[in-house]
Amino acid sequence: MDSPPDCATSTAMRNFNWMYNVLSLCTSPKIKSFLWRTLSQALPVGATLASRHITSSVKCLRCGGDEDVSHVLFFCPFAQTIWDHAPITSSPSFRRALSTQDKLSEARALLNMPPTGVTIPLYPWILWQTWKARNSLCFQNREFSRIEIISKAVTEARFWQQAQESIPKSLPFQPPQITTPPSEIDIFCFVDAAWTSSSLFGGMGWIFRFGSSRLEVHGTLSRLVFLWPQL
Ligand SMILES: [Zn+2]
Repeated sequence: MDSPPDCATSTAMRNFNWMYNVLSLCTSPKIKSFLWRTLSQALPVGATLASRHITSSVKCLRCGGDEDVSHVLFFCPFAQTIWDHAPITSSPSFRRALSTQDKLSEARALLNMPPTGVTIPLYPWILWQTWKARNSLCFQNREFSRIEIISKAVTEARFWQQAQESIPKSLPFQPPQITTPPSEIDIFCFVDAAWTSSSLFGGMGWIFRFGSSRLEVHGTLSRLVFLWPQL
């Protein structure tokens, strides 16, 4: 079972290449957020909830095994059938001794089968749909088959990939050119910013106003923003 972070786990997290395996992964912000919570042992699985005295039940609803992150996503017999039938070039041999970080590092080597039409990494979407199916079973008593889960993963990945292809490439940021010198020496700056934990997107806007003149310089910026956990 996964246990609360100990020294070894903290070391594994510290040595984990978060940039390569999560932040720069070509996948949606919600998937990155999910991977982040997975790697931070923040998913509310039975073992985690029991360790926090929220529940005494740590059993997997599908097989009765101890429910920790590795069990739900990799080693539950149901999860294993998903991986065995997923359209990837080889069935991953996730070893139990590996940390979750190492399992996801190894997963980067998995390749998609060409007929899927998905060229972005598919395994994060498989993990995500496996987790969603677990929640549907727990909270709605609704069960999805492995075929449905794999199909949802492929479909969502393909839609997201196509959506990215239709987004015009943003131009590099060009600082505004001030052609008229300000008539006053007083410069006022107005800024505002927001960030949502659900999308992990943050945005900010700013206006510089030069004294009583009507000259203004303004701009906006939005990007994916992760809050680094305490390591
Ligand atoms: Zn199970």
